[in-house]
Amino acid sequence: MDCLFCKIAAGEIPSKKLFEDDTLLAFYDIDPQAPVHFLVIPKTHISGADAITPENSAIVAHIYEVIAQLAGQLGLTGGFRVVSNCGADAGQSVPHLHFHVLAGRSLAWPPG
Ligand code: 5GP
Ligand code: ZN
Repeated sequence: MDCLFCKIAAGEIPSKKLFEDDTLLAFYDIDPQAPVHFLVIPKTHISGADAITPENSAIVAHIYEVIAQLAGQLGLTGGFRVVSNCGADAGQSVPHLHFHVLAGRSLAWPPG
């Protein structure tokens, strides 16, 4: 499949990996929007948050478990934000489910 994040998950396109297991990959965003900005993706292709189903939703729980572990390892004691943009209005630019993890500065709310 011609999908950027499928290729990153497969190692066909290099990334700065933070953590990897059989089902997911965490890697640093190429255009960081905060001092800490990494992405967590399932290795299997899911197009976005609107394509989560009873059959594939277990990976979302696992992604959040790993985010909590990584936040601890990275010492994100000040807090962090998890964001998954879905669709045009949210500005999703890569149609493969991904969770941004942003930290290291005060994060404004509401988002733009
Ligand atoms: P979205 O806009 O879909 O919410 O998020 C996509 C994210 O992927 C953006 O923050 C963008 O900087 C990041 N990104 C796009 N292409 C690459 C790439 O080739 N490598 C990495 N590490 N991040 C990428
Ligand atoms: Zn994909």
